[in-house]
Amino acid sequence: MTVAAPPITKVQNYINGQWRDSSATDWLDVINPATAEIIARTPLSDAQEVTEAIELAAAAYPEWRRTPPEDRIQPLFKLKMLLEEHLDDFGRIITQENGKTFAEAKAEMRRAIENVEVACGIPMMMQGYNLEDVARGIDEIMIRQPLGVVAAITPFNFPGMIPFWFLPYAIACGNTLIVKPSERVPLTMKLAFELLERTGLPKGVVNLVNGGKAAVDTLLDHPKVRAISFVGSTPIAKYVYARAGENGKRAQCQGGAKNHVIVLPDADMQMATQIISDSAFGCAGQRCLAVSVAVTIGEAQRTFRDAIADSAAKLRVGNGLEEGVQMGPVITSQSKARIESLIGAGEKEGAQVLLDGRGPKIPKHESGNFVKPTILDNVPANSELAHTEIFGPVLSLVHANDLDEALAFLESSPFGNQASLFTSSGSAARRFRYEAPAGNIGINIGVAAPMAYFPFSGWKDSFFGIMHGQGRDAIEFYTEKKVVVERWAKEHSRKF
Ligand code: NAD
Repeated sequence: MTVAAPPITKVQNYINGQWRDSSATDWLDVINPATAEIIARTPLSDAQEVTEAIELAAAAYPEWRRTPPEDRIQPLFKLKMLLEEHLDDFGRIITQENGKTFAEAKAEMRRAIENVEVACGIPMMMQGYNLEDVARGIDEIMIRQPLGVVAAITPFNFPGMIPFWFLPYAIACGNTLIVKPSERVPLTMKLAFELLERTGLPKGVVNLVNGGKAAVDTLLDHPKVRAISFVGSTPIAKYVYARAGENGKRAQCQGGAKNHVIVLPDADMQMATQIISDSAFGCAGQRCLAVSVAVTIGEAQRTFRDAIADSAAKLRVGNGLEEGVQMGPVITSQSKARIESLIGAGEKEGAQVLLDGRGPKIPKHESGNFVKPTILDNVPANSELAHTEIFGPVLSLVHANDLDEALAFLESSPFGNQASLFTSSGSAARRFRYEAPAGNIGINIGVAAPMAYFPFSGWKDSFFGIMHGQGRDAIEFYTEKKVVVERWAKEHSRKF
């Protein structure tokens, strides 16, 4: 007996409290990167559909804005419980559409939940400040008010966590929100919105539109969208920032990265190797905080190189849903081809391939987008590859004579998302913290991901804007300050 394959899910949009079939004429296949199976289809929603979502979010705003902050956070408490209950479901869906391992997928959702927890503190965090008697009998207060409709446009690599850098803060501050996830991984937000639907949020407060460039451009151009939160590659971050700016919107745009770790010879080499290996090859190198260049100093050139090559070669690569797999595939076959060609370009520029992960054969997964851990040794500091974002499981090794030279190399990078140092010297660590030209700094840490109550602080071409995502910056970003100066005549109070 043959069993018909289940129909492929056509992902819906969630607008004004309703799941809707999209009227899109263009659809994109969602492909499991480990198996090459088509698991869903994403609508590339057009301007008309996105405009309708914006108008309905705008209509929901006045009532939501008047809802007391204490009441606005109640659905977030429910959301936290629902996200906890469905952690395994998220794990499976993220692994299927993104490729990372089940453990990595669940870990990303932990970070999402943390942001929901922090946003529950809005009644305290959103408070302004005041001063009596700025002049005799005159008082002054600063109040924070929400903006209106705001939008979050997010990338493929953290389908669950990144939308939550924005969603809980935006709505707890009293805004209504439109989320536009990456069209390559729409299923994680589908589940998140199914849970949001159960939290009692009024209709129109959170909306999900699936799509690509046309959907983004509509959000950027519509006058009722007041603020844009974006995470993705640098060219698109720059474009979104410029277009939002031209239209008078505030924007926070996180871009690409090329993260460095400096390894001093006094580092605990065993610990450094294990942590840097996880940072470089975890999530198949597709974390925005993945270390992609290790700068070794002195004797570390040899000790670290030998240890990391040994550790990376042992990583078990495969389908992230299988027990014991430590690294999954990269997102698309185009990504795989791009990563493999950049490894070749590095070789041409003079690097030696110490560990070659190109073209691996993964049993039963011959069609998957796998690249195994790759290490390029002696990458020339002035080569193009030393400054190009690879976004795959490739670690470049660059050698420097001392910390001065290593810091100068970091300074020459166009990116500034993260920089780390491995050492046992407090004074080297302090100098690094003081001088390293990046927004997220790790000292003996491989992935210096800020907790939800700290800003996610990229610099240079890794961030365009002023206020970052998460923490107090999120409150600043999603609110407008209003200052009131007040005088009440004394005579009036004497009547009572
Ligand atoms: P991407 O730039 O291709 O896409 C990001 C978003 O922009 C998606 O929602 C996509 O639909 C939209 N988009 C794509 N092309 C567009 C266009 N021409 N016009 C308008 N919108 C467009 O990024 P990606 O491949 O999904 O994600 C990987 C990138 O994101 C990497 O460069 C990575 O470093 C970066 N990233 C950065 C951070 C950070 O914190 N700085 C975090 C995660 C990922």
